[in-house]
Amino acid sequence: MKENCSHQVDCLKMIQLILDGEATEQQLAKLQINLESCQPCIRMYHLEKEVKELLTKRMEKRCCPDELVATIKSRILSFS
Ligand SMILES: [Zn+2]
Repeated sequence: MKENCSHQVDCLKMIQLILDGEATEQQLAKLQINLESCQPCIRMYHLEKEVKELLTKRMEKRCCPDELVATIKSRILSFS
């Protein structure tokens, strides 16, 4: 398991595409391989996923997303 990701920017882009449902099958497969071997990407994936889910919920209620994102991120990062 890798502790550091040398392609984190690419990984993040891919994760966001996937969470937006806009990734190609090729990108999905690539990320899947990544998530089995790359610790920072696993963490990033779960972080982005949780933020997105909560934002979606909050958006329906029209609440302050910026503050919420900061809260979630700090909470998740303190666990990892
Ligand atoms: Zn990675």
